[in-house]
This record gives sequence, structure tokens and C-alpha cells, in this order.
Amino acid sequence: MSRLITVFLFCSILLAQTQQQTPSPYRGAPQTTAAQQENFPPELLNELESIKLSALADDYAYHQVAHLTDNIGPRLSGSPQAKAAVDYVAEELRKLGLEVQLEEVKVPHWVRGAETAELTEYAGQVPGTTQKIVLTALGGSTATPVDGLNADVVVVNNFDELHALGREKVAGKIVLFNVLFDKQKAAAGLSFVAYGEAVRYRGAGPKAAADLGAVAALVRSVGNADYRLPHTGYSAPAGIPAGAVTAEDADLISRLFMQGKVRMHLTLTPQKLPDATGYNVIGDLKGSEHPEQIVVVSGHLDSWDLGTGAIDDAAGVGVAMEAAEVLHQLGLHPKRTLRVIAWIDEESGGAGSRAYSTDHTNEFPHHVAAIECDTGAAHPLGFDARISAGAAELLRPALNVLQSFGANALQPTNYPPGADISAMSEAGVPALGILQDGRSYFNYHHTAADTLDKIVPMELRENAAAMAVMGYALASMKNPLPR
Ligand SMILES: [Zn+2]
Repeated sequence: MSRLITVFLFCSILLAQTQQQTPSPYRGAPQTTAAQQENFPPELLNELESIKLSALADDYAYHQVAHLTDNIGPRLSGSPQAKAAVDYVAEELRKLGLEVQLEEVKVPHWVRGAETAELTEYAGQVPGTTQKIVLTALGGSTATPVDGLNADVVVVNNFDELHALGREKVAGKIVLFNVLFDKQKAAAGLSFVAYGEAVRYRGAGPKAAADLGAVAALVRSVGNADYRLPHTGYSAPAGIPAGAVTAEDADLISRLFMQGKVRMHLTLTPQKLPDATGYNVIGDLKGSEHPEQIVVVSGHLDSWDLGTGAIDDAAGVGVAMEAAEVLHQLGLHPKRTLRVIAWIDEESGGAGSRAYSTDHTNEFPHHVAAIECDTGAAHPLGFDARISAGAAELLRPALNVLQSFGANALQPTNYPPGADISAMSEAGVPALGILQDGRSYFNYHHTAADTLDKIVPMELRENAAAMAVMGYALASMKNPLPR
């Protein structure tokens, strides 16, 4: 109470002081350093302002996302849809006058099959009843026999509990990792922290269970919403069937497991086909002064197969494409090369970005910066950036251009701010990710509900504006961004 009163009084005093002050004259933009002025002369700032306004009034990115999702559909690595998306994006970038190359790479080709489960025995079971379990296979999962397998379920809440059980109590069983996605963190804006804490069980849980002789592994879906939706995703090859059950079903199994034996009939029949050919789409808008210096703007073209991959990550591809489209529309040419990349295979192992880093390592010293948009399509707040403090300060004039719609934050990170640009970032290339309001991202992430309707057109325009302004700034500021 007393603290509340103090705060109230303090606020009142501040308010009173503000009201008493005579308004000081407007001093324009915050003071800029000599280096900022040298790198961002007035002509460049005017161009950045025009780019922003054009992007905020342009639905190009939305039309690209609509085509990728509604007309092409899910774009799982190795699928005909993934190839159709490659051809489409390449053609669209050619229409903008970019030099387009397809970078060939072998990608996994895994196809989802039947996926059903029911609890056939459990404490307090009413005779003649079973419990349906809603689940989906994790990427790369092996198959059960066509008519399924039957096994007892053991529920663990972490790796320590699994290891404490040991082989004796795990062998021959189905292990369920019931690890909660922390909704409070997500609601408070830390959704990627919540994701990181839970997703390691999706990634490594099945292998850990297999190592102790489990016949199958399930994880609680890594997601934020309670609509009994299973969330798929990558899992390290474990050699056993692996799936994600909905949060509701994980709770059900867990409650019954506390009461006694739980037996499950599990059917997952995905197929792993021979590796297929995939392509990164690389489109260059050649720099007018330093064509050998490259600024990457990117998103990933492949998606999971349950939905149509709108927020993950047709949005990122659309936004990167629009960075080039806006320049085309305005007749602007960056000093350095602006390289649009639509990555392949981000979801199923990252073969696309690995191929790029192998093929282009020699060019990395000339890669001035790389940006990826792969956290959805919601309102952008600015950028996550793995760049030096000096570089961050130098970018302030570009961020100021984005201040009018709130996308001017620069959040330093010590990890790569995008999966596909991580190799570049590790090699020292300044790396940025668009920092978005991620509070609802994990409601839909990797589910059947990742569809076009989840994208708010105005928010997508804001993301396109952030990408276009920052991409052009990095490609046209006087000196390359320092490392
Ligand atoms: Zn993604």
C-alpha cells in the first residue's frame, strides 16, 4: 500500500512539473553522431522514408503469401508443393529484374501417414470404453506396424525422470514427455523462451527414450493454445515412432498414469522416401557501386504439412520479396547487392542453409549483413541483432525511420537471430531477425491452423516496411556495417 502511494505521489509530482514547464522548442531528430551523419546523408534518409511509406501501402507481400498458401499449399521439404513454390518465387523475382539462381541441395523426403491412438486400458476404465488420443507424427518419425502397436505408457516430466527410470522401466514402453509450454512467459512477451524450454524435449526426447529401449515416444505439443491441436516439428532421428499429443491429451494420460497402468494402441504410418532435390531461391538486385558486397534479406520457403505454412514462413518469404519489389516500384538501386533468399528445408534439418554456407563461405567476408524473418507475421517491434555495439549505434538513423509504427527497437542477442542465417552469424556476418510481437505465434506454430487467415494484412505490411528499410539501409549506407 505505502509503495503504491509513493508511486502515485511521485507520478503526481512529475505530472505537475511537466505541466509547469514552458514547452521547449522542437529540436528535430535525436542528436546524431558524425558517423551516423556520414553514413545516412539526407538523400538516403529520404529514400528510406519513401520505402517505408510504399511498403506500408503495398499488399505485394500479402499476395505472395496468399499464393504460396492458398494456391500452392503446404510446402514440406521434398514435396511437389515445395518445388512449385521454388519455381513461383524464382519467376516472381525475375519479374522484378533480379538475377535469379536456384541452388540445388538434397533434402529429406518424409511423408505423413495415418496417425491415430487410443488408450485401451487405464485405472477406473468403464467397461467397453476407450479414450481417443489426438496426436500427430513428428517429422522424420518411423512407422508402427500398419495395424499399430500396443504398449504401456510411462509419463516423465523431464530427462532426469527418464534416466531415473532407467532401461528396466522404459524398455518396451511408450514414453510421454509431459513438459509444459510456459504460457505465462508467452503472455509476458517471452514466448521464445517458453518455446526453447519445451522444444528440446521434442528435439531430443524420442532419441533419449529410444536409447533406453522405448518402442515409441510422445511429447506434449509445444504450443500455447488449448484447442486440442497437435503441434508437429523436427525431432532428431530416433529410429522409433515419435509423435506429439495435444496438451489436453497429455494432461489426460498424465492424470490416468498417476492412478495406475495406462496402455495405448498407437498407429503412425509415415514413410521416409529417398532424399529429394530441393532449391534455395537466390535473387540478386545488383549493387550499383559495390556489387560484390551483399546484404541478405530472407525467409524460408518450406513449411510443415499440417497447415499451409502462412506464418511459418510464407510470411518471411513474402516480406523478403517485397524488399526488392518496393525498390523496383520506386526505381531505387542500392549501392551494394540486395540478395533475396527463399531458403529450403529450414524445418526438416536445414539442408538449404548448410548448402549456402558451404557454397558461399568464401563470400562471407563480403556479406555485409543478413536478415531473416521467421517468427511470424505479427506487428514488428524492431530487430533482434547479433551485431557489435558500434554497429547498433550506427544503425540508429534507419531505426528512427521505423519509429512511426513502433518498429525501432534493437535488441542485442548473443545467438543467431534466425536458423537459416546462423552459419553466417557464426562466421561473423552481422545478423538481424525481425523482432515481432510473438504472443500468439505459438498458438498456431506447426499446426493445422497455420493458415492465411492468421495474418493481419496491416501487420504484414509493417514487417515488409521493416525489412525493406533495414535491407536498403544496410545496402546503401556509406560504409559497410562494421563487424
Ligand atoms: Zn520457420
